[in-house]
Amino acid sequence: MSHAVPSYLHPDHLGPWGVYLQQVDRVIPYLGHLARWAETLKRPKRALIVDVPIQMDNGTVAHFEGYRVQHNTSRGPGKGGVRFHQDVTLSEVMALSAWMSIKNAAVNVPYGGAKGGIRVDPKTLSLGELERMTRRYTSEIGIIIGPTKDIPAPDVNTNEQTMAWMMDTYSMNEGATATGVVTGKPIDLGGSLGRREATGRGVYTVGVEAAKHIGLDISSAKIAVQGFGNVGGIAAKLFAQAGATIVAVQDHGGTIAMASGLDVNALLLHVANTGSVAGFALADVLPDAEFWSVACDILIPAALEQQITETNAHRIQARMVIEGANGPTTPQADDILQDRGILVVPDVIANAGGVTVSYFEWVQDFSSFFWSEDEINSRLVRIMQDAFAVVWQVGLDHQVSLRTATFIVGCKRILHARELRGLYP
Ligand code: NAD
Repeated sequence: MSHAVPSYLHPDHLGPWGVYLQQVDRVIPYLGHLARWAETLKRPKRALIVDVPIQMDNGTVAHFEGYRVQHNTSRGPGKGGVRFHQDVTLSEVMALSAWMSIKNAAVNVPYGGAKGGIRVDPKTLSLGELERMTRRYTSEIGIIIGPTKDIPAPDVNTNEQTMAWMMDTYSMNEGATATGVVTGKPIDLGGSLGRREATGRGVYTVGVEAAKHIGLDISSAKIAVQGFGNVGGIAAKLFAQAGATIVAVQDHGGTIAMASGLDVNALLLHVANTGSVAGFALADVLPDAEFWSVACDILIPAALEQQITETNAHRIQARMVIEGANGPTTPQADDILQDRGILVVPDVIANAGGVTVSYFEWVQDFSSFFWSEDEINSRLVRIMQDAFAVVWQVGLDHQVSLRTATFIVGCKRILHARELRGLYP
């Protein structure tokens, strides 16, 4: 009975997968008899690395490295986004796939966890190159994805157009239109109303619930947001609509601030036109490192992993951190924030709104019957509020952080399914 852990799965393996393993270790004492199955959580079920060769516009051939990892499928098909970024690694995709397993179980949608990515800076590609790369990648991972196997969705630097190309490529290879193979599609191709805003709406919804527990009035709250894309931009807009003041925003282009409040709609337009918050006229420019010490009540990291670390966690002024991004806080920083009495609403519940409406999209595609936006938003809000209430109670019962509480809920559901299904053969 060997439990020898392959080197790339070892906790000392630096990077996001190592962070995930530490998070799992913190939960094992709370799993009761299900701890017997915990090793399942520490190994991805399946990891595929693919070569993605494409012809560039100048006639040369370029090769990109792509990944699709299915962490767990005990509760249903794999589900999780596809990221195009120059820093994508296998460790990162493995961690992101595992966080999807926990998240999907925490909000109780019938999915396992998966994630994909290509190690590329998509900003350096023409539209034609981007399409050829997306299509070749889809074809390469086509052997493991499908509407009942594993359903990709957008993530960093991928969007509705990416999903349309993926859906078309998979459908061409299958010889049948398979809208349910991806979610986050354009509305005219079987996409769902409300999907584009869903993750930001979920961040907002759990933020409002958490604020009630710590006596924070959203309508007078000051908020700093890192990442102003799909998640950060929409969350900022919804908080601003509720009366909150967005005092600072950071993205890959720089950091801007305005103590009296940024005009979020004007900033969204500026980003849509220029690609970054940099150069926005109605704001002061801050050095990037100063973003973390901005005076605010709520901090929303909504960009990439490992942004809140031992080096900046001491400087955070907020009363609450809501993790729009996946994995933005290291375990060491988590402890510092907890010691300082700063509430962290973790990614695995805070950004689950996207996958929840992806689930609605998948259900609508299967039934070819589409719901109204009001119906989608009200179901989303109910699922997020109910899931948050369960997590909050588990946190109180065990006197643990909300991250550990969400992991307890998610891991128990996954391992209970594991136990019911049993081992094959
Ligand atoms: P996006 O591509 O729309 O936006 C990413 C944002 O991060 C951009 O504003 C970009 O400028 C910023 N950014 C990139 N590098 C940065 C850096 N070094 N410093 C500061 N800012 C930087 O991506 P998104 O879909 O909004 O995803 C953001 C995060 O939310 C990711 O962690 C993603 O996994 C997570 N997430 C997304 C969804 C979804 O539905 N899109 C769902 C759940 C979680």
